[in-house]
Amino acid sequence: MNPMSVSEKLAVDKYELDEGHPHIVVNQEICQTRCRERPCLYVCPAKLYSEQEGKVIVEWAGCLECRTCQVACEPQALPWQYPRGGFGIVYRYG
Ligand code: SF4
Repeated sequence: MNPMSVSEKLAVDKYELDEGHPHIVVNQEICQTRCRERPCLYVCPAKLYSEQEGKVIVEWAGCLECRTCQVACEPQALPWQYPRGGFGIVYRYG
């Protein structure tokens, strides 16, 4: 029996989307003035961050709720809260 790969495991996760209530919001002022390395572009295991026209964008709907980005990024650059009760990711394989 072959073990599941990480991408296979991610594909079976389920998300309850809380539309209109992003739990991660990039503070563009702090992000653009204090951060040069942009670690969010590299540390997110789900690769949800991208840079568009000089601004960092996060596709928060696919978030794994690991909080790696908050640890890696400039303090207060990523106001981050867990999704409201009943929303967010549901892991099916731990
Ligand atoms: Fe990516 Fe984890 Fe941050 Fe979610 S909490 S955006 S999965 S690094």
